[in-house]
This record gives sequence, structure tokens and C-alpha cells, in this order.
Amino acid sequence: MNKFIFSDCTSVDAALSQMTGEAVVKAGGVDVLDRMKNGVIEPAKLVNITNIPSLRGIHETETGVRLGALVTLAELGDHPLLQSQYTVLADAAGHAATPQIRNAATLGGNLMQKVHCWYYRSADFACLRKGHDMCFAYDGLNQYHAIFDTNVCPSVAPSSTAVALSALNASVELTSAKGKRLVPVREFYIKPDDKHPTMETVIAPDELLTAVLIPKPAAGTRSAYQKYGEKSSYDWAIADAGVVLEMQGDVCRKAAIVLGAASPTPRLAVDAAALLVGKPITEETARAAGLAAMQGATPLSMNGYKVQLFPVAIYRTILLAAGKMDRDPSAAG
Ligand SMILES: Cc1cc2nc3c(=O)[nH]c(=O)nc-3n(C[C@H](O)[C@H](O)[C@H](O)COP(=O)(O)OP(=O)(O)OC[C@H]3O[C@@H](n4cnc5c(N)ncnc54)[C@H](O)[C@@H]3O)c2cc1C
Ligand code: SF4
Repeated sequence: MNKFIFSDCTSVDAALSQMTGEAVVKAGGVDVLDRMKNGVIEPAKLVNITNIPSLRGIHETETGVRLGALVTLAELGDHPLLQSQYTVLADAAGHAATPQIRNAATLGGNLMQKVHCWYYRSADFACLRKGHDMCFAYDGLNQYHAIFDTNVCPSVAPSSTAVALSALNASVELTSAKGKRLVPVREFYIKPDDKHPTMETVIAPDELLTAVLIPKPAAGTRSAYQKYGEKSSYDWAIADAGVVLEMQGDVCRKAAIVLGAASPTPRLAVDAAALLVGKPITEETARAAGLAAMQGATPLSMNGYKVQLFPVAIYRTILLAAGKMDRDPSAAG
């Protein structure tokens, strides 16, 4: 690991003033230190934000809930209000990684963690996403890679909380010396294209993610998240799904289905969700939505199994959200 300056900040203003040149923000440090230890990045300065009190806390507001960027995954998973009214988020945070990681990892860092691809996370591969000119995944080991939006960089969106927050239509608050702006989570992530292969989010280099705002759920809202992986813990998802249903009696009035580990960004399955609207949630409607979510998939040479796995993850999560199935014992986390 390279030598670096450690700039410990106790206010947002102090952190913003330190975010110059090659400085990198450090929250829980799980992702950033991993990449430093692997020699993927060698920042001259780390701006430590973990001692900024104003970035902590889960607050219920008139319009919903405000989560500070430093709230840990463990705090999200254990919070009674989130468990009862924003279940998809408590489920996603509470089943991510391991208990030790959930105690250190922050919401802001989880949303900002870099994409998942073992070539990207190794210093030995100078790939397109790191500003070079080729992708190693197409002809390489691509069993964990994307099955949608695979044309430029088929890495996958790794953040469990991004899946949940996208399903809840939450927004992130971004703060710079010029002020604050709100960006819907659904517009926060950038799909890699030929012009911008290295950009992952719309955050500017002088901005800090300071909070997440989730709107109050409409009456009758129920939600759930499930993650499927190779291991039951200590791993990212191979396929995960977040589902939010607005129910009126037995009938679904509105639905959102979001997939993680399917594309380089969290994937909103709009057509699949539309199939649920106006109908009761049954095994049949849930299975139909799961299959519809795979329309347009372009799997790579080694990940065709995901096209079979996702429909199962989706239909079981829809039934869990509707209260028609228990949590799947074969789900991870
Ligand atoms: C074995 C293992 C299993 C895992 N499984 C899962 C899983 O199932 N689901 C999942 O979602 N994650 C999983 N993770 C990833 C882990 O949850 C993330 O690495 C962690 O949440 C990152 O949070 P952090 O606070 O440590 O971020 P850091 O490492 O401190 O930062 C991550 C990135 O975000 C930037 N950053 C951090 N905070 C801010 C901010 N407030 N504003 C602007 N930029 C910021 C940093 O500069 C850095 O680039 C796993 C990790 C491991 C090691
Ligand atoms: S999938 Fe993306 S991150 Fe992975 S090697 Fe290809 S360009 Fe790099």
C-alpha cells in the first residue's frame, strides 16, 4: 500500500475543503481500503468522514425518513421503523456481507462502492473501466457478470441498499461548497457507454453524499428484498431483487421491481412490475413477472444460468413482499 496523508474531519465543511486533487473520501473503509491494499488505487490523501456527527442518524420526517450517510448497514437492518415500513431496505442492509462488515460499512459508502468485476479489482488488469482500452470479461471468466447492458462494460451493480432505495424511489442528497442538490437514486448511477466508460455515478468530485431521503410509503405498501449467492454469507449477490407493492385489499395498485447484479447499474424491471398492476398477487402473476423481467437479456458465455436464477429470485421476493411466502431458506445473508 502507498503512503498517504490521513485527513481526519469533524464537519462537512472541513471535509469538502480537503477534497482536492487526488484525495479520496473514506467512510467505513471496507471498499476503499480493499482497493488500496490490492494496489488498484494509490490516493495521495484519504479524507476520513467517520467523525462527522451531522452525517449520522435515522430521522422520521413529515415526508418520510432521512438517513445520514454514515448510518451503518447494521443500524439500517436493526431499525424498527425501517423493518416495519421500509422492509425492503432493512432486509437489504441486514443481509449484506457479514455482521462484522455491516457494523463498519456505511450507507453512503455502500451506495458509492465501485462496480463488481474481478478484473477491475485487480491491479494486474488495465481495463476500459479504469481508463484503458479493453474489457477482459468478454473472453474471460464472466460467470458473475451482467446479463443486461453488456455492450461496453458488463460489470455488475454490487450495492444491496441501492436495489432497495431504487425500489423505494429514494433520493440522495449531494453537498458541495456551492450548496445541496437532490438526485433520485434511479438517476444516480450511470450506465457505461463509449463516451463515459469510467463514470459510475453523477456525483461530482467536489460533492459529498450527505444523506438519503425516502418518501413516506402510501397506505397498503409492503416490500421485501432477497439475495441469492454462491455462499450463504460473506459474499455479494449473484442475483438479488427488491420489490415494493402498493396493495388495495388483494389487488396490487402499484409495483416496483429492481434487480441487482444483473447490469452495471441497479435495473428497474418496469414491464415486469406493470404485469402485477390491477391484479391479485398470486404464484401465477409473480412467476409471470419474474419471467418478463428477463426480456432483452444478453447473457455472456458463462452466465446464462442467471437468466434462470433471476425469475426465481423475483417471484419469491414478490410473494414474500405480499405476505404469501416466508423468507426463502435458500436465500443468502
Ligand atoms: C466479503 C464481502 C461481502 C460483501 N457483500 C456485500 C453485499 O452482499 N451487499 C453489498 O451491498 N455490499 C457488500 N459488500 C460491500 C460492502 O458492503 C461495502 O464495501 C461497504 O458497504 C462500503 O461502505 P464503506 O462505508 O466501508 O465505504 P468506503 O470503503 O469508505 O467507501 C466506498 C467508496 O465510496 C466513497 N464514499 C464513501 N462515503 C462517501 C460519501 N459520503 N460521499 C461521497 N463518497 C463516499 C469512497 O470514496 C469510496 O470510493 C461486501 C464486502 C465484502 C468484503
Ligand atoms: S467488465 Fe468492466 S470492469 Fe470488468 S474488465 Fe470489463 S471493462 Fe473492466
